[in-house]
Amino acid sequence: MIKRADFVPDEEWNRFKEITKDFATPNIFVNLDLIEKNYRQLNKTFPYGKTYYAVKSNPGVPVLRLLDKLGSNFDIATRYELDMVLAQGISPDRVSYGNTIKKAVDVEYFYQKGVRLFATDSKDDLKNIAAKAPGSKIYVRILIENSSTADWPLSRKFGCHPDMAYNLLVMAKEKGLIPYGISFHVGSQQRDIGQWNDAIAKTKYLFESLEEEEDIKLEMINMGGGFPAHYIQPTNELSEYASEITRYLNDDFEKIPKIFFEPGRSLTGDSGILTSEVVLISRKNNTSLARWVYLDCGMFNGLIETMGEAIKYPVVTDKDREGVKEGEVILAGPTCDSADIMYENEKYKLPIDLKSGDKVYWLSTGAYTASYASVGFNGYPPIKIYYYDQKAVYDEAGNTLKEL
Ligand SMILES: *Cc1c(COP(=O)(O)O)cnc(C)c1O
Repeated sequence: MIKRADFVPDEEWNRFKEITKDFATPNIFVNLDLIEKNYRQLNKTFPYGKTYYAVKSNPGVPVLRLLDKLGSNFDIATRYELDMVLAQGISPDRVSYGNTIKKAVDVEYFYQKGVRLFATDSKDDLKNIAAKAPGSKIYVRILIENSSTADWPLSRKFGCHPDMAYNLLVMAKEKGLIPYGISFHVGSQQRDIGQWNDAIAKTKYLFESLEEEEDIKLEMINMGGGFPAHYIQPTNELSEYASEITRYLNDDFEKIPKIFFEPGRSLTGDSGILTSEVVLISRKNNTSLARWVYLDCGMFNGLIETMGEAIKYPVVTDKDREGVKEGEVILAGPTCDSADIMYENEKYKLPIDLKSGDKVYWLSTGAYTASYASVGFNGYPPIKIYYYDQKAVYDEAGNTLKEL
C-alpha cells in the first residue's frame, strides 16, 4: 500500500478534504502554497540561478500570478502562452521564447510584443529570428542523447549536435543577432544527476572554442528543467542536485556564467491532487485475481503521462488503512479506447472492499495534467482544475470561487 502521509501530511490532507468535499469529480486541486514553497526552495538552493517557469507544466492564471509576485521569469512555448502571461501585466523582458519549433509569424509576434530572448536549434529557425526579431539574444539548444534515466525524456526532438550549435552561434553573430548562450534539457523527471555533468562539459567546450576561434563571448547557460517531483520511484532531494550541479559548474568554469533554470514539474508537480471516482470494478473471468478498476478520469482526461506507464503517480483511497486486505488492480479510464489504461504492468494494489462510487486520489498531479486533457473525447468535458491558498479557492482563469 502506498502511504499517503509519505506524500501529503495529515494536516494538509484534512484541509484538502474539507476544501474539496462539495466538488464533482473528476477534479484537480492545486495548493498554491506548495508552489510558492518549491519556488523559494529552488531559489535558495541555486542562489546564482534565474528562474524561467515552464508555463506548459501548469498554465493556470493563479500560478502565473503567484510566480509573477515572487519575481519569476517565464519560459514560453507559444503565442497563446505569451498572451496569457502578458495579460497578467508581466513585462516581456521576463519572457524567453524557449520553443525551437516555431513559425516565422510567431517569431514576429513575440518580437512585436517586446520579447528579445529566443532559443533555436536549426538554421531555418535562426534565419527567421534574424529576419523577424533583429538584434535579439540567441541561445542554442544542444541535443542530449542519453535520457533513459529520465521518466519523461525530451530528447531527440529538440536540440542539435554541439558542432552545429557552434555554427549557429557564429551565424547568429553574422546576422546581427547576439550570441548569448547554450541551453539543454536533460529530460523531465531526470533521476541521474550525472546527466547534468555531461551537458555542462559540452557547454564548456562551446564557450571556450567560440571565444578562442570566433571571439564570441557567451554569457549564459540555460539548464532547462528536469528536477523531479515526488512520485513512486524515489529520487534524490533537490539539495543533492544543487550541490552536484554547482560542483560541475565550478569544475568547468573559472567564473560561473549566468545560469537560467526552466523548472516545470519540480515547481508544480507535488502541488496537485486529482480526485476521481470508481465507475465500475470488474474481473475478466470467474477466477482471475486482478480486478479492473475503471475510474472517471483517465489517459485522456488528466493522466496522459501514464502513457507507457512512464510517470507512476501515488494512488490512494479512503479505504486505505493499517492491515487492510488489498489486491492487485488494473487502473483504467472511462472512455471507449483501449489505450485508456493507466497501469497494467505496474502492479498497483488497492483495498479489496473498494466499491463503485468510492474516491481514488492521484497524488502529485499538479504538473502536465489538466492542460493535457482532451477537449471532449467521448463527450467527457476536460477535467476541472482549481487552485487554493490560505485565502480562497480560484478557478483556472483566476476568479475567486469561495473564500476560505
Ligand atoms: C517542458 C520544458 C521544461 C520543463 O521541464 P520540467 O522537467 O518539467 O522541469 C523546461 N524547458 C523546456 C524548453 C521545456 O520544453
